[in-house]
Amino acid sequence: MTNKPYGGGDIATPSRTKEIIARHGFAFKKSLGQNFLIDANILNKIVEAAELTPNDGALEIGPGIGSLTERLARTAAKVTAVEIDQRLLPILSDTLAAYPNVEIVHGDVLKVALDELFARSFAGVDSVSVVANLPYYVTTPIVMRLLEAKLPLRNIVVMIQKEVAERMAAAPGGKEYGSLSIAVQYYCEPELVTVVPHTVFIPQPNVDSAVIKLKVRSRPAVEVKDEAFFFEVVHASFAQRRKTISNNLAARFFTKETKGELAPLLERTGIDPSRRGETLSLEEYARLSEALLEHIRRNPT
Ligand code: SAM
Repeated sequence: MTNKPYGGGDIATPSRTKEIIARHGFAFKKSLGQNFLIDANILNKIVEAAELTPNDGALEIGPGIGSLTERLARTAAKVTAVEIDQRLLPILSDTLAAYPNVEIVHGDVLKVALDELFARSFAGVDSVSVVANLPYYVTTPIVMRLLEAKLPLRNIVVMIQKEVAERMAAAPGGKEYGSLSIAVQYYCEPELVTVVPHTVFIPQPNVDSAVIKLKVRSRPAVEVKDEAFFFEVVHASFAQRRKTISNNLAARFFTKETKGELAPLLERTGIDPSRRGETLSLEEYARLSEALLEHIRRNPT
């Protein structure tokens, strides 16, 4: 490795990426989901979808060697990027030396105190969006952590596995629709931005990829008294996908003696007990969880 700073030009081309990797003797770690983007068009689509203004902040997860970070630094006021792999830190200080508005935080995004990081990094910016090419082995935990932390985010624009993006954006009725769709759509309006071929990464991943934009709602899509209970009902309803909503809920919330109370409760809520969990909309899940909570409070076991 040399101490000479990286000479410039976009990082996201095959030749620049290979040069940086060779210069620093970097070896990819598959276990950390290291697939680096080498396509300027895809990067443009990601950054455009985030709709950043020059007064905005961007939180990146997993900057790698800095290809997306560089684009974000040219567009936003402040970029904070959390990277787990210590070996990438000297590379990033080399490749991003020209961008004083970039801060690299070494850590696991599943463990860093996000609220503290926000307060420290993004004071004074107009709004903050997450923009990232996520490590695929932890896509769902990362997105759920971001949403459940209730951070003041505007957009989350992420490259993820195509199949997971489709599940996040799925409407009721299909096999992709499940508890992930409901959790994501409770907090956000999802929009599939583009499908991405393997060829735009070094090394190429084994799965197809897609960019998804999650526009964070100012308040959840439905109003429920007890959010944790709402999600418990959703999870229970998909416990066995082939079973009816009535069978799944009975197994989780009722006993042999009390399960007769479930069908009338569902009917009062306007839900046919023979339906499957995958056919219920968010509004129906909200109504169902309110009715079930009320029932359980009135009839404690
Ligand atoms: N942003 C770069 C790009 O587009 O070329 C790299 C993306 S690569 C798919 C994922 C990056 O996330 C890698 O740099 C990897 O080391 C990092 N990473 C993996 N797990 C992480 C975690 N739990 N927290 C933070 N970064 C992580």
